[in-house]
Amino acid sequence: MSHQVTLIPGDGIGPEVASAARRAVDATGASIDWEIAELNAEVILKTGESLPKHVLDSLDRTRVGLKGPVTTPIGGGYTSVNVALRKRLDLFANVRPVRSLPGVVTRFDDVIIDMVIFRENTEDLYSGLEHEVVKDVVTSLKVITRTASIRIAEYAFQFAQKQGRKKVVAIHKANIMKLADGLFLRCCREIAANYPHIEYTELIVDNAAMQLVMRPEKFDVLLLPNLYGDIVSDLAAGLVGGLGIVPGANMGENHAVFEAVHGSAPDIAGKGIANPTAMMLSSALMLIHLGEPAAAKRLQSAIQAVYLEHSHVTRDVGGTASTNEFTDAVIRAM
Ligand code: NAD
Repeated sequence: MSHQVTLIPGDGIGPEVASAARRAVDATGASIDWEIAELNAEVILKTGESLPKHVLDSLDRTRVGLKGPVTTPIGGGYTSVNVALRKRLDLFANVRPVRSLPGVVTRFDDVIIDMVIFRENTEDLYSGLEHEVVKDVVTSLKVITRTASIRIAEYAFQFAQKQGRKKVVAIHKANIMKLADGLFLRCCREIAANYPHIEYTELIVDNAAMQLVMRPEKFDVLLLPNLYGDIVSDLAAGLVGGLGIVPGANMGENHAVFEAVHGSAPDIAGKGIANPTAMMLSSALMLIHLGEPAAAKRLQSAIQAVYLEHSHVTRDVGGTASTNEFTDAVIRAM
């Protein structure tokens, strides 16, 4: 039976890495009916909606999306479609496995990095509630709720239990934001108490940033509110070789949308040099979600093999291959 999947190419490098991931997924032998939904600056400006109806209709039909990045104008313009999509579909958990890949030279080659980030995905400073109180005085509202905090904490601990992970660390700034981050932390503690066999600790976010750089191998499962989760994800990507290789999943009760951590990378868009690994590894997470673990494994193993051999990797990870050359090598390795 075919799986129906909404493919959102996005913009910038999105169409390049989405097409690479689609070719790789098709080569695994999994049968996917791709429904293409265009979502980019042009469509948003044309329809006047940050979440055009055809995208939502498609995701409501398929319930599963593979999404390329979409550019958000900085400091003005329309609101982020990425944030809007996560809120609209209630994709409350942003899950980002950060792992070293063989042959990628980093500053941390001597340690094995294998951590999973659980970022709350629907609230916090991403509430979009900003206003100018009086001229030149602006407030941005940070919204933290018990419902969302309990939900992400439970999701992270359940995952840790299922995957045999040993440690969960909650990352916060409750020394300063005593009410908001204090509530997040109380919820994490409440859930942690139900999992006594998993070691639970807490770190203030600034200290966490330093510890991640000093001792990245010590981290296992990280549990964070939205903004810290966003920042720490990019930091963690930097530890293993950059944004080109870190995948992600946005999970809700009824929908799942898989996308890389990286954005639309306008600096390299259209040049055919973007690294599609993160998008391919996001596709592997999607295949697992679709109940196709063997296809996921084929894809992951082929990527590992190409990295190990190292003559067909892209320039962001020390090679010279184009997006297509890397993709061809992954398909050959399957
Ligand atoms: P970015 O992730 O697009 O790029 C940061 C740096 O990493 C750039 O130097 C880029 O060339 C490099 N990079 C990223 N992905 C790469 C890949 N696959 N291969 C090789 N190099 C890669 O971050 P940014 O420049 O801060 O943001 C650009 C735009 O993307 C912004 O409009 C932002 O809002 C948007 N964005 C979208 C998403 C999303 O759709 N989920 C996520 C993050 C940022």
